[in-house]
Amino acid sequence: MDNQARILIVDDERFNINVLVDLLKPDYEMMVAKNGEQALKRVQSSRPPDLVLLDIMMPDMDGYEVCHRLKEDPLTRDIPIIFVTAMDKTGDEEQGLALGAVDYITKPFSPALVKLRVKNHLRLKQQNDRLRNLATLDGLTGIPNRRFFDQHLNQEWRRSLRNGSPISIILMDIDHFKQYNDHYGHAAGDECLKQVSGALAAVVGRAGDLVAHCGSGRATDLVARYGGEEFVCVLPDTDGPGVAVVGERLRTAVYTLNIPHEHSGAASHVTISLGGATLTPCPTTPPSSLIENADRNLYRSKEQGRNRLTI
Ligand code: GH3
Ligand code: MG
Ligand code: MG
Repeated sequence: MDNQARILIVDDERFNINVLVDLLKPDYEMMVAKNGEQALKRVQSSRPPDLVLLDIMMPDMDGYEVCHRLKEDPLTRDIPIIFVTAMDKTGDEEQGLALGAVDYITKPFSPALVKLRVKNHLRLKQQNDRLRNLATLDGLTGIPNRRFFDQHLNQEWRRSLRNGSPISIILMDIDHFKQYNDHYGHAAGDECLKQVSGALAAVVGRAGDLVAHCGSGRATDLVARYGGEEFVCVLPDTDGPGVAVVGERLRTAVYTLNIPHEHSGAASHVTISLGGATLTPCPTTPPSSLIENADRNLYRSKEQGRNRLTI
């Protein structure tokens, strides 16, 4: 069973909050906000809500405005919103649904119906999350996949082009991994790939966050599985010295996993070779040039003895 779903209740009346919290608390984890501003803060938490129950009439920022802002931000756009309100005119409901809310419940409400609607919308949300993860995360390692990397790089490339800022990538490849498979077996090879990707992802942050941040308008570092035993790290707003620092962290992260590899030739345990490249995009260069440069440097690292970074 997944983690318990989280529901955010937004209402300026303490009494209304309590009614909904008492109703849903037995089944879900509850968060509350007493006004629009608090609501916008709560959704930015490291574990955002899976569903928002939103009042409309509130001082300062009304529910429509909160809904509008949540739908505007790619980071919160996919969180379903149900209006729970005393405003029972057809026009009110029309406005709420047009803003992107999934449902509209008028007060006084039937507790049983609220529970069922909440359950239905949460099920849909979970299905959507699962599909998004299938499409963007690598099945074996759980880190972002090649497809996600391609999208991410294009997006960050365009941002760098607009801002005139540098962007870097680091290509990584496990040393003598064929030998590892041959001697320890394919299952052990898979396990090794999982550990290595976990260590690499931990250097730049958590995988799930990265996917969730995609398209959020914020520059984010990313580690993805590029191919079989190859990984890639994207570093927006980062130049040569930055690449050296992160690259060394990535190399060390794998090295200190200390996974025995008797037949490596590079060390007595599993290591990676890295190739870094930095460019400040111009309109005539394609993002693939960054990959080509990094690949050339990765090849040099391999040639010069592996377990090293070339920039
Ligand atoms: P080098 O140091 O030059 O990189 O040598 P290498 O042996 O690592 O490189 P090579 O490309 O010859 O071999 C890559 C190996 O990675 C071969 C392939 O079976 C293995 N591999 C690729 N994907 C997977 C996977 O998902 N699971 C397992 N267990 N092995 C994989
Ligand atoms: Mg390879
Ligand atoms: Mg290799």
